Amino acid sequence: MFPGTCTFWAPGLMDLLHNSEAVVKRDMVPTQYTVDTPYMVGPVHFYTIDLDGELVMFDTGPPTEEGTLFLQDHVELERLKHVIITHCHVDHYGQAAWLHANSDAAVYFPYRDILKIKQHEKRLEKMYELLSGMGFDEGYLVRFRESFNRGTVFPPVPASYLVAEHDVPDRLGINILGCAGHSQSDLVYTGNSWAVTGDTLLRGIYQSPLLDVDLENGGRFNNYQSYCRTLYNLAQLRDKTILPGHRQTIESVDATIHQAVFCRRGYRPCFWKGVERPVSCVLEGL
Ligand SMILES: [Zn+2]
Repeated sequence: MFPGTCTFWAPGLMDLLHNSEAVVKRDMVPTQYTVDTPYMVGPVHFYTIDLDGELVMFDTGPPTEEGTLFLQDHVELERLKHVIITHCHVDHYGQAAWLHANSDAAVYFPYRDILKIKQHEKRLEKMYELLSGMGFDEGYLVRFRESFNRGTVFPPVPASYLVAEHDVPDRLGINILGCAGHSQSDLVYTGNSWAVTGDTLLRGIYQSPLLDVDLENGGRFNNYQSYCRTLYNLAQLRDKTILPGHRQTIESVDATIHQAVFCRRGYRPCFWKGVERPVSCVLEGL
């Protein structure tokens, strides 16, 4: 594969890999599974791969009955050792508690999501302050609170969990890149030839300003600044097979960076001086 191109795992590819004696274990890519969700985003993918003889799963699908049945039918729960989450949005981690209860797997969440879980009430209070400061009235805040307490936005979390950035065992050979922007916690997990990218490469992801609380400094999370930093890490994925959280086609890594750097007037990353150059020059400078 040429640098800068973007490919996807396709049905049948794993069979070809298994049949080729020349292929060594490190070149295998995770297997993709797709589950429907009741959310606007549509179906979501999760992935499994054997690493160092241990079954590893990236993301879980949504907390729906259909999602649970799908896991029972498609994942070897008795062999599952690690469930590693890209970011704690309901479609990506919704089955983490169920998997923890129905297997021996360790569950790993991004550090920033663990802060949100542990400081849930403080986060909500701070969000009410933010919304109120922006002019949202009391009636809206009441509805906002009710929707958060319904249990559909925040599904149950496992009885125990680990910090992905610190606790994913080195022996698995997984590299972890912080790629905040879509949320404040997005992590991308890479092997030699592949990258599980969650929602970091979804089209238009960085243009949506996030309204969330940065629990490290108590202020509003600045997803624009975070995304500028993320571009440096995304540039490291140019020679990887991209395994996204949704859809089968996304823009290439180069196109994603190009769009972020050049295509949004008034919303250019802070390192960019405003003089347009070929994207390859920008990428070389990253
Ligand atoms: Zn998603």
